[in-house]
Amino acid sequence: MRTQIVAGNWKMNCDLDDTKSLIEGLKKTTKNNATEVIIAPSFTNLSLANCLLEDSNIALSAQNMNANDSGAFTGEVSANMLKSVGVTYVILGHSERRAIFHEDAQILKEKTNQALEQNLSPIFCVGEELNVRQNNGHFNLVEEQIAESLFHLSTEEFSKLVIAYEPVWAIGTGETATPEQAQEMHAHIRKVIAKQYDDATANSISILYGGSVKPANAKEIFANPDVDGGLIGGASLKADDFTAIINSF
Ligand code: PEP
Repeated sequence: MRTQIVAGNWKMNCDLDDTKSLIEGLKKTTKNNATEVIIAPSFTNLSLANCLLEDSNIALSAQNMNANDSGAFTGEVSANMLKSVGVTYVILGHSERRAIFHEDAQILKEKTNQALEQNLSPIFCVGEELNVRQNNGHFNLVEEQIAESLFHLSTEEFSKLVIAYEPVWAIGTGETATPEQAQEMHAHIRKVIAKQYDDATANSISILYGGSVKPANAKEIFANPDVDGGLIGGASLKADDFTAIINSF
């Protein structure tokens, strides 16, 4: 039985007041759910979020972190700092980090190592751009993204990951992969993991779908056997929508 997860990536949205009201809204509506619920506010609001979430079962994620322990890295945030404010997950390899901040396979490998060393669970994002899918290169590209940054890990380390398949053409565009497209990529990812590790590892990893998930389409996406939940951007910024997505299992 895999963990079902719904994670909200707030990106660069929500000031302190917005964070407070969104969390209060979520706490009212997401009680007693079997699904693991995670939110990823910005760095500045993690500490407040941690205090507000004390009496809830919502977990905290960061949206990024630095690969180093500490030191002269102006503007960066370490895994240890994140842990000290109650963070247990970290999103790594989001397509916006790859495209805008030029994060490549090597840096993502280093960040993954650091997160695991510090006991943070990476939510590792992979996904193809539209032209890659149109040229039928999406299966190879996603396999490559996983292999290059993650396949040096031991079975035990790999088992601590959550993978998020996020086709870049579906992120923030309103366009969603069809349930069939999501299922076939998730099954492919599981096959690739089984080949590198073993069936037990592949079958235990939660693989989330991300890309314009909303209350209207969450149910049919989550109904697929290899889809274990979602990484939600825009729709995680409204308590009612995010709750409806959580309740779509
Ligand atoms: C994301 O950025 O991870 C994401 C899935 O965004 P959206 O749901 O807005 O497409």
